[in-house]
Amino acid sequence: MNIVVERLNKIKSNISNSNVNVVAVSKTFPFETIKPLIDQGHLHFGENKVQEAEAKWSEHQKTKKKINLHMVGGLQSNKAKKAVELFDYIHSLDNKRLADMLSKHENKINKKLKYFIQVNIGNETQKSGVTENDLNDFYKYCTKEINLNIIGLMAIPPNDVDVEKHFKFLYDKNVSLGLKELSMGMSADYQKALKFKSTFLRIGSSIFGERN
Ligand SMILES: *Cc1c(COP(=O)(O)O)cnc(C)c1O
Repeated sequence: MNIVVERLNKIKSNISNSNVNVVAVSKTFPFETIKPLIDQGHLHFGENKVQEAEAKWSEHQKTKKKINLHMVGGLQSNKAKKAVELFDYIHSLDNKRLADMLSKHENKINKKLKYFIQVNIGNETQKSGVTENDLNDFYKYCTKEINLNIIGLMAIPPNDVDVEKHFKFLYDKNVSLGLKELSMGMSADYQKALKFKSTFLRIGSSIFGERN
């Protein structure tokens, strides 16, 4: 069997909860590497750059069965138009300007995406994400003022400390906002994320191998 398919199947076999989705993060890998997963019926794929995603996926999106394409990386508001056209999910919603642009382009082409608000847990200065303090207001703005379909929270926790503490924090926040989905857990820590009821695992290198 194809090695990439084998690795994904192995990961899936460790997940007993059928509400959990594996987003295969295929950034840097060419379509040929990804294709066996599609042929096998996998539906969720993640990219972190609009341009790369467009080059890789736009032809496929038109012709083949419905893939769910996830934007997991930082998104600049000047790329919002392309992002709305291309993606089904955005995991990195983290500022008003971006939110406004996404909403505007959704309305223009009459398409609704699903969004995770990215939270900067640990308030790390170098990381993107809404701060804990701003989260409630930002959530209200996105849902009430500009009508974005926010389905959950997302975070990339600091990796130098107790990850489970951060997963618990995000889980609790998600519950307090009444959100159903939760985007946390990557190759190194997805088992821990599952303990805190993550529903979208973003897994790259454990499926595709190390990136250059
Ligand atoms: C690349 C990336 C992942 C996947 O990381 P791995 O450690 O390779 O599983 C997950 N989330 C985001 C936001 C990423 O950029």
